[in-house]
Amino acid sequence: MPIATVNPANGETLRTFDALEADEIERRLTAADAAFREYRTTGFAERARLLDRAADLLDEDQQDIARTMTLEMGKPVSAARAEAAKCAKAMRWYAAHAEELLADEHPAPADVEDSGASRAFVRYRPLGPVLAVMPWNFPLWQVVRFAAPALMAGNTGLLKHASNVPQTALYLGDLFRRAGFPAGCFQTLLVGSKAVEGILRDRRVVAATLTGSEPAGRSVASVAGDEVKHTVLELGGSDPYLVLPSADVAKAARTAVTARAQNNGQSCIAAKRFIVHTAVYEEFAERFTVGMRDLTVGDPLEESTDVGPLASEQGRADLEELVDDAVRRGASALCGGGRPGGLRGGLENGWFYAPTVLAGITSDMRIHHEETFGPVASLYRVDSLDEAVELANDTPFGLSSNVWTRDTEETERCIRDLEAGGVFFNGMTASHPALPFGGVKRSGYGRELAGHGIREFCNATTVWFG
Ligand code: NDP
Repeated sequence: MPIATVNPANGETLRTFDALEADEIERRLTAADAAFREYRTTGFAERARLLDRAADLLDEDQQDIARTMTLEMGKPVSAARAEAAKCAKAMRWYAAHAEELLADEHPAPADVEDSGASRAFVRYRPLGPVLAVMPWNFPLWQVVRFAAPALMAGNTGLLKHASNVPQTALYLGDLFRRAGFPAGCFQTLLVGSKAVEGILRDRRVVAATLTGSEPAGRSVASVAGDEVKHTVLELGGSDPYLVLPSADVAKAARTAVTARAQNNGQSCIAAKRFIVHTAVYEEFAERFTVGMRDLTVGDPLEESTDVGPLASEQGRADLEELVDDAVRRGASALCGGGRPGGLRGGLENGWFYAPTVLAGITSDMRIHHEETFGPVASLYRVDSLDEAVELANDTPFGLSSNVWTRDTEETERCIRDLEAGGVFFNGMTASHPALPFGGVKRSGYGRELAGHGIREFCNATTVWFG
C-alpha cells in the first residue's frame, strides 16, 4: 500500500510520501531508546505538564487537523473536530490521574508479614520504547489513547500509522515534539506494514500495541510472541444491540442509527447486529429504517453531512461483497443495499455506500459471521431473551455489546452472559478515558484506557525488604 493521502470523497491523490529508509529507522530506534533512559527518570508532574501542553496545542489546531483527517479518511468534519476534542480531554485526564493510577500498591500488613518481609509493595515502572501499529478509522484517537498513558507511565512511543493517514501521523509526531517532550519520546515512522516485523524484533523495542484487523493482529502478535514481547490487541468487532420488550423503542431506534452510522460505519465498537424481540420488532424496524434512510450522505467537509465515503475503494468492495452475498441468499434490504445515487461534483468518484438495513439474515450468510466495516446494519428478530443472548454470542468477536431493557433480571442476565469486553445498557458503546476498553475472543486481548490501560505497559515490580 503506498503511503499517501487520497481523498476518499473523490479518489484524488493529494500527497504521496516515501517510506523511511533503513538507516533512518535505525536512527529513530536509537533515539527512542536513548530518550527512554532519561525520560523514565522524570516525575509525574513534569510529564503531566508536557501532556497538558500537547492538549492545549491540539485544541488550538482543532480546525486544521480535523480537515486533514477528513481529507485523508473521509469522516464528517464535525466528527473529526469532536475526535480532536476527545483526544485533548484524554490527555488531560491522564495528566491528572496517572500518578494515582500508578501509585505503589501495598498488600495487607498480615500478608506482608506472612511473606517474611518487614515491608513490601508493588511499584509500576515503565518498560521502554513501545511500538504502536494503528489504523486509519480514528486516526488521532487510536494513537492518543495509547500515547497519553504510555508517556505518563514513562515509556517512549514509536508510531507506525496506517499508510492512508500519513499527514495525521506526521502531525502527531510533531505535536508531542512541540509540546516539549524530549526528542525521541514519541516518533512517527512512515513505513509500510512490511517494515513492522524488523522493528518489532529490534531488541530496543520492548512491546507493541495494535488496533486493526485480525490478520494484522495475528501477524504482530506472532512476531512479538516469538520475541517474548508483550502485546495489546484491539481488533474487529461485530457488536450486538439487543432491544427487549421493556425498551424505550423510539430512543433505542434513534441511538441505533448513530451507533451504526458513526464514522461512516467504520468503527470497531459500532453496533452491527440489531437483535430485536418480536414484541417490539415492527416498531423498531420501522423507526430504525427511516432513521438510516434519512441520513445525509455526501461531502464529508460539509457541516450538514452525516455519512461520508468509506476510507478506501477496497473497503467498499469488501462491504459490497458481504451485502450482495446476503441478498443472494435471501436477505432483504429495508433501505440502501448499494451505492447512493445523485452524487455530483467529483463525489460520484468517491467510495460512498448508502446506509443500509438488512433483514432476514441467516447463519449461512457471510455477514452473519464477518464484520461489516461500513454503514450496514443486520437486523434479527428473536422470540426470547435466551434466543437473543445465544445469537449475540454467535460470533467470533467479543468487543462490546448494547442492551435496551428496563428489567433488572434481564440486566443481570446480560452482564453475566454476554461474551464481550463491555455491556452498555440503554445507550451506545463509547470509549471514555476512565473506563477500560478492549475485547475477548477474536476482538483481541489486553485493555486500553483507565488504570488497566496505563498498567499494560508497566513493569509491576515487587519490592521486598527482609
Ligand atoms: P489493517 O489491519 O490492515 O491496518 C491497521 C494497521 O495495521 C495499519 O497501520 C496497517 O499498515 C497495519 N498492518 C496491516 N497488516 C499488517 C501486518 N501484516 N503486519 C503489521 N502491520 C500490519 O486494516 P485495514 O485498513 O486493511 O482494514 C481492514 C479491516 O480491518 C477492516 O475492514 C476492519 O474489519 C478492520 N479494522 C478494524 C479497526 C478497528 O478499529 N478495530 C480499524 C481498522 C480496520 P498499512 O496501512 O501500511 O497496511
